[in-house]
Amino acid sequence: MTVPNCDGTGGRAIWMDGRELARTMLAELAGQFAQLTTDTGTPVVLAIVQIGRDPAASSYVRAIVRCCDRVGVTPRLITLDSDTGPSALAETLHVLDDDSETAGIIIQYPLPELLARAVRAHMPPHKDVDGIHPLNAGLLALGDPSALVPATPLGGMALLHHYNVDLEGKHAVVIGRSPIVGRPMAQLLLQAHATVTICHSRTRGLDEITRSADILAVATGRPRMVTATMVKKGATVIDFGVNFVDGQMVGDVDTEPVAEIAARITPVPGGTGPMTNVMLMQNTLAAAIRQRPQD
Ligand code: NDP
Repeated sequence: MTVPNCDGTGGRAIWMDGRELARTMLAELAGQFAQLTTDTGTPVVLAIVQIGRDPAASSYVRAIVRCCDRVGVTPRLITLDSDTGPSALAETLHVLDDDSETAGIIIQYPLPELLARAVRAHMPPHKDVDGIHPLNAGLLALGDPSALVPATPLGGMALLHHYNVDLEGKHAVVIGRSPIVGRPMAQLLLQAHATVTICHSRTRGLDEITRSADILAVATGRPRMVTATMVKKGATVIDFGVNFVDGQMVGDVDTEPVAEIAARITPVPGGTGPMTNVMLMQNTLAAAIRQRPQD
């Protein structure tokens, strides 16, 4: 894939570079974690819970560990057997809740629905750094800034802010309504005063709706499903997709042709992907600060 001109000339979109923003934010976070560790005298611990040994999940876990290393967070890996049941998972979460050193907990998805339900029921909300507990989802829906918000949509919003995209009063269309990407992204755009439309697999007239979007955020898991004819000239396109086609990582947007129409676009790889773990670290910092012992 060729890189579009970053100055927006030549009819090509500005590339919203997640790798560069991630580097900057990780350096800032490293300073903030160092300060917190000095103040409290204890390192910040992030518990990473993986059930089974799925290679894709293991690769995500390694990426989180690398990110922890870069900011000075201590990762605590907990690998449970693939036949772990809901009560054993609940017990693990209770132990981590009682552990005062553990500031945050992240569980690797996907999980079978029975286990996902156990996580929602037993995740301590104040350590829920991926924002999956119903309390955090509810606070987000209420527009309460104390919510811990899923990291992936937070990364999309950080890119929009970094590139000074005006959201107020703009029409933002989100394709996808999952609890970890589409739905919270729509809530965040609403909080930023955009007028938000949420689309999903039963939406009728999708193309017509997306063509009216000033901001188009896509989280469908369908490789390259958003084509150039679905995008308004000058729109900003946020692609959350991570798909593998013939061994190549591609997004949910057909990036090259869409970059000819849009004003700004996130590449895949290198757009929203690198931001997710940065925002996970930011959430871990927020959770650790809130749990810091008071004098
Ligand atoms: P889900 O499968 O949970 O949700 C997909 C959503 O897309 C659903 O709401 C579904 O609708 C909708 N959808 C599917 N097909 C269509 C279609 N043809 N037209 C309109 N809507 C459609 O996926 P996730 O939200 O977990 O992930 C979405 C994408 O984001 C994936 O590519 C995933 O890999 C990526 N991802 C990236 C992360 C990152 O770090 N950047 C982290 C997490 C995910 P319905 O509800 O009706 O089924």
